Amino acid sequence: MKTFIVDLDKCNGCYGCQLACKDETVGNDWMPYSKPQPKTGQFWLRMTEKVHGTVPKVRVEYRPEMCRHCDNAPCIAAAPDSVYKRDDGLVIIDPEKAAGNKALVDVCPYNAIYWNEDLNIPQKCTGCAHLVDEGKLPHCVEACATGALRFGEEEDFAAEIAESEGNYVIGEEKPRVHYLHPFKLFLAGEVWDPDADLIIEGASITIEDENGSKQETQTDGFGDFWFWHIGAGRYIMTIEADGFKTITREIDLQESTNLDDFPMEKM
Ligand code: SF4
Ligand code: SF4
Repeated sequence: MKTFIVDLDKCNGCYGCQLACKDETVGNDWMPYSKPQPKTGQFWLRMTEKVHGTVPKVRVEYRPEMCRHCDNAPCIAAAPDSVYKRDDGLVIIDPEKAAGNKALVDVCPYNAIYWNEDLNIPQKCTGCAHLVDEGKLPHCVEACATGALRFGEEEDFAAEIAESEGNYVIGEEKPRVHYLHPFKLFLAGEVWDPDADLIIEGASITIEDENGSKQETQTDGFGDFWFWHIGAGRYIMTIEADGFKTITREIDLQESTNLDDFPMEKM
């Protein structure tokens, strides 16, 4: 059975996969799997972006979204005569049998199905089944230069699938698209010496969550500190630097946050 791996740490948001999907499917008839994707209004693979933080400490989270080729697919349950799962795991909406079934669009919890008004059919990613039949990769995977998108046999990705378990899974659909390294929140700030009007490099920053679990980092050559991939919640933050009074703050982190700057007072 085939599966997709999406490693979000490797995705740089180049949109190559989205373009490749359009290139492969707009204007191209790949029956019996798909009729052409329209030029506008549909994204069988859709890049999503979320901006985290505030200027100047900002990061953009990129996530390619597509049909998850679910093993327990709501679309198949809703239309068993016109939507089917291939032996290799790819889920296909039969363009002829599904004609007129506009209601199918609302069945997918991942918003992966689009309605084609001109052709009167529901449409979505087929996993480039026409290419897979020829032993080739889906075009989005082929186009991904960073290795963020991969496709292959489930057993070859067993460890990564286990690591991804539950990421971005909405219900009991059992998706065959597995996301690695989901973006969590970051906490950042800057530490400086107001008397010398200089940043402080090597200051020690510790955050402790409500369970007593601690993480530590140091300010870099710009006086900046960053905590990556941390969860929402309350933290006690401590800033220590040689020759300066310790600063302690209570933080309720709900979004990625740039705490701005911390002037340190000399002892
Ligand atoms: S082609 Fe690869 S790196 Fe580029 S946006 Fe898509 S998944 Fe990310
Ligand atoms: S993601 Fe949506 S369209 Fe794709 S198989 Fe699952 S329910 Fe069906």
